[in-house]
Amino acid sequence: MDKRFPKYTKAEPPDGHTGAGFFATTFDRVIGLARKNSIWPLPFATSCCGIEFMATMGAHYDLARFGSERLSFSPRQADLLMVMGTIAKKMAPVVQQVYIQMAEPRWVLAMGACASSGGIFDTYSVLQGIDRVVPVDVYVPGCPPRPEQVIDGFMKIQELVGKESLRRRYSQEYKELLMSYGI
Ligand code: SF4
Repeated sequence: MDKRFPKYTKAEPPDGHTGAGFFATTFDRVIGLARKNSIWPLPFATSCCGIEFMATMGAHYDLARFGSERLSFSPRQADLLMVMGTIAKKMAPVVQQVYIQMAEPRWVLAMGACASSGGIFDTYSVLQGIDRVVPVDVYVPGCPPRPEQVIDGFMKIQELVGKESLRRRYSQEYKELLMSYGI
């Protein structure tokens, strides 16, 4: 078994102060710990990368180890939009609509060359990266990326989720980011 991905993982406690009989940390970090270990992904799969994601969900790679076995096909009950596959320009407004329907806080992972940049399809009909329509937090390169890469990208998302300040979503900078996408 790959030692980087042990079969069972234990959530590490957040930074804080510990002593005899007590552990103190901040509210942000406790919320971050809970969120990062219970991310509900929404798989938006249009082509071959989606097949690789199916392998990631299967018993061998098993995304359930990260508290994420519950995929959501309803944007209202999802935290992480995972876009995998070629996105045609006609499909772009749908990706954005799904993103808008997700409740805050929400994160986005672009899996594979097509979702990240259009991939080999530099044509009139293909969106050259989903970051043209929604803000992306993590890009996973490859055509297709292997499940190990998907898990690595997912763990990067976990890092972001665990460290995110509770105030970030109310910040002017975040509002301006969304406004730049017309959201
Ligand atoms: S990046 Fe490669 S494997 Fe993934 S959807 Fe595009 S062509 Fe298919």
